[in-house]
Amino acid sequence: MEFLPISWRLQGKVALLAGGGEVALRKGRLLHRSGAVVNVVAPQVCDELRAIVAQSGGACIDRAFASTDLDGAALVICATDDRSTNADIASQAQQRGLPVNVVDDPSLGDFIFPAIVDRSPVLISISSSGASPVLARKLRAQLESSLPARWGRLADLMARFRQPLKEKLDNIGARRLFWEQTLDSPVVEKVLAGKDSEAEAMLAAAIESADAASLSRGEVYLVGAGPGDPDLLTFRALRLLQKADVVLYDRLVGKGIVDLARRDAELVYVGKARDKHALPQDNINELLVHYAKQGKKVCRLKGGDPFIFGRGGEEIDLIVAEGIDFQVVPGITAASGCASYAGIPLTHRDHAQSVRFVTGHRKDGSVDLDWEHLVGEHETVVFYMGLVGLREICSQLIAHGRAGDTPIALVSRGTTNLQEVITGTLNQLPDDIEGREIHAPTLIIVGSVVSLHPKFNWFKP
Ligand code: SAH
Repeated sequence: MEFLPISWRLQGKVALLAGGGEVALRKGRLLHRSGAVVNVVAPQVCDELRAIVAQSGGACIDRAFASTDLDGAALVICATDDRSTNADIASQAQQRGLPVNVVDDPSLGDFIFPAIVDRSPVLISISSSGASPVLARKLRAQLESSLPARWGRLADLMARFRQPLKEKLDNIGARRLFWEQTLDSPVVEKVLAGKDSEAEAMLAAAIESADAASLSRGEVYLVGAGPGDPDLLTFRALRLLQKADVVLYDRLVGKGIVDLARRDAELVYVGKARDKHALPQDNINELLVHYAKQGKKVCRLKGGDPFIFGRGGEEIDLIVAEGIDFQVVPGITAASGCASYAGIPLTHRDHAQSVRFVTGHRKDGSVDLDWEHLVGEHETVVFYMGLVGLREICSQLIAHGRAGDTPIALVSRGTTNLQEVITGTLNQLPDDIEGREIHAPTLIIVGSVVSLHPKFNWFKP
């Protein structure tokens, strides 16, 4: 982040605006709206700006800038039409430690003005860090048209009921949940429809009957996060992720997804690297119970789908035994995600009528599988966790009757910007990749459908 967005209370503070033309006028209006006392220094000041200065209780200084104009100012905006004048004023202000904005020249100042969607008291500011104000304005236009004008009334209503709710519920987590439920309730529709008094009565009644015990009951969400691309999360996964107080995740869940958690949520890494168990499964199960028993909403994020080679069943076992509420949210499993992003249809009328998902995880040093069931010519077989045993997988498939020239693909870090697809045949691929670094996680797809990859390969990160 090149800039930190903050909301700054300016009521009664002096803002010095250098410049008296159209550009200065726009900033003058904004400063006045925020309650600042606007002082303007410029040899010529347009009439409208003069009027704004007077209304704000400020003064017009009708001459060129002098350093004494900075006395008493809380911030400075350089909006003259001369670059070197702006630069000079900016540097004098900075020497005094005053925050400066130079209009149209973010590199000279300390802060910039975002585009604003004003639903006071709700304010949305959009900044492109100066990279493209046009883009920021376009985004603003989109938000303007999608946010009802009465959102501000809703925020006002909630502000008025903050104290009564505090008196009813002393637990901050319970209060947050109460407000979340309120925002999903008919109160919102009432406000948006202009029925403020009905909304107020409903909210008062809801506070009256708010029950701390049920609001602060712990819950576990076992959530499939998909194979990597955050765009592949489901709506429900996102909603629960943003509701959770604690998020437990492992290395299969990308940072882009973990970043979608609430900013104040506790993030707990419970990663398991192959052969290096950072946290044994039992400990993860116990942690889930531990947090839920503290009344927390716990989101256990799993790569792909929790119930496909995800040990999701084991993780909820203890939760069920302890009588804790839970939900399971399906995710896009690696086979679906990687196949789509590699342009390999898992089934296809001309190639495969069925598909199997198999774990290639080695047990006692060997890949222990029902090989005779995996060699059907018209079947696609997808191996999870199979890279280490690739050579054995290929030779066992051939030994049990699959043709040596059957196409095979390795999809590494599928659906992410680092996706790599390597194709070959059962005969050749293990030799082809000998000594080559293949990054985890990697999925193996075997079958004639792999031959479609060059034709359907649309995702080129
Ligand atoms: N529950 C997960 C699977 C967990 S097992 C799911 O439904 O996808 C872990 C294995 O999944 C990895 O060894 C790898 O074979 C596969 N995998 C998961 N994400 C992947 C990705 N982005 N690219 C390739 N393979 C992936």
